[in-house]
Amino acid sequence: MHSVIVVGGGPAGVAAAVAAKREGQSVLLIERYGFLGGMATAGLVNPFMVTLGAGGLYQEFLERLEKWDARKDRTFDGELTKLVLDEWLQEEGVDILFHGLLTDAEVEGGYIKSIKVVGKGEELEFAASYFIDCTGDGDLAKLAGVPMNMGREADGLCQPMTTCFQVGGVDDELMLTREELTKLYLEAKAQGKLNNPRENLLWFRTIRPGEVHFNTTRVVGKNPVSLQELTEAELEARRQLAETFAWLKKEVPAFKNAYIMRIAAQIGVRESRTIQGAYQLTEDDVLSCRKFDDAIGKCSYPIDIHSPQGEGTRIAALPKGEWYEIPYRTLYSPAVENLLVAGRCISSTHEAQASLRIMPTCMVMGQAAGVAAAMASAGNLPVSQVPVPELQAKLKAKGADLR
Ligand SMILES: Cc1cc2nc3c(=O)[nH]c(=O)nc-3n(C[C@H](O)[C@H](O)[C@H](O)COP(=O)(O)OP(=O)(O)OC[C@H]3O[C@@H](n4cnc5c(N)ncnc54)[C@H](O)[C@@H]3O)c2cc1C
Repeated sequence: MHSVIVVGGGPAGVAAAVAAKREGQSVLLIERYGFLGGMATAGLVNPFMVTLGAGGLYQEFLERLEKWDARKDRTFDGELTKLVLDEWLQEEGVDILFHGLLTDAEVEGGYIKSIKVVGKGEELEFAASYFIDCTGDGDLAKLAGVPMNMGREADGLCQPMTTCFQVGGVDDELMLTREELTKLYLEAKAQGKLNNPRENLLWFRTIRPGEVHFNTTRVVGKNPVSLQELTEAELEARRQLAETFAWLKKEVPAFKNAYIMRIAAQIGVRESRTIQGAYQLTEDDVLSCRKFDDAIGKCSYPIDIHSPQGEGTRIAALPKGEWYEIPYRTLYSPAVENLLVAGRCISSTHEAQASLRIMPTCMVMGQAAGVAAAMASAGNLPVSQVPVPELQAKLKAKGADLR
């Protein structure tokens, strides 16, 4: 039996597993795919967004990517990232179980006793003293009976989903600016050649010449945790992708000889379930740059809401140089005593989640959850009773950017 089980190997889960292991815990990381990285690999999401407060394991991750020539500034290579993470987690001694889909949790008296994981016709049961839910969708929290929220308070709608893709064979000499390409895109949309509710064409360069990364498909109004609607979303996003690529190739000279290099393994989910935690972070907390006594991390990224209904993106920035803090209480629910949550499904409103969801901040939360789980385990404490000043001191000693 492991002392800590982390479910989900995205940015939050990787950091949680490494952090708990470095605190002397035996750690099992369970991931439904055959590789780590979550949205950074399976979702082909790029680049890392800029925020204050992204110290600790995120900085170490950047260094490791650099050693593999897998990064230029904030842009990284998703395929090499899989190798970097394999190496890192194995070096740390984290046990990994790939191809395992979490499907059930057995809870007794407010404690998760064990979880069930299925794959290839097998059902496995794992017990542990503490669990960290880094599934992005809060699957473990939901299965353990934690009350959950989803999407906007008024109608439950979540941010749109996007299938990212990358093309090669782009003529860099002929490549247009973002504004020029968007102008052509809008003309094509007006002529009925493109059917996509996005207001512009969103793209980035990769770490190599001749390649372009697109984050531009947009599927609105679908529930990201309904298998039926997720299926519809996958199909619609790839329809948009094919249409966009064909249009680029035919009508934009820089793309005449372009080819599709990669399509994300799954549609990118920006938002779905969040836990109802001991504290729920709000838009007001974010925009008023609120500080908390039990802060475990900070973030300065704007509220960035891609419209859940159609065109438009709402950006609400914090004053320059300012930040808000993420309280420890957003990482657990009073309903379950041995469960922490990290990443995009922590206790936060639609608006606050739209800021803290970026990959660097997910790693900050993951690191905090990993250290907190280790402290709870060492002291045999409910996660709500972890001494926060000690947690903060440990995080600071590990390079976290805290007051
Ligand atoms: C289209 C899009 C564009 C984005 N753009 C950017 C950007 O440019 N920069 C930026 O910094 N952030 C961006 N983000 C946000 C960021 O990528 C995510 O919010 C972040 O990756 C969330 O990290 P996480 O660890 O919480 O979850 P995820 O990255 O979603 O990882 C969750 C992991 O859990 C696994 N998992 C899920 N359910 C189960 C289960 N039941 N059993 C086992 N394993 C499971 C998944 O396979 C996955 O590996 C973007 C997101 C999207 C969708």
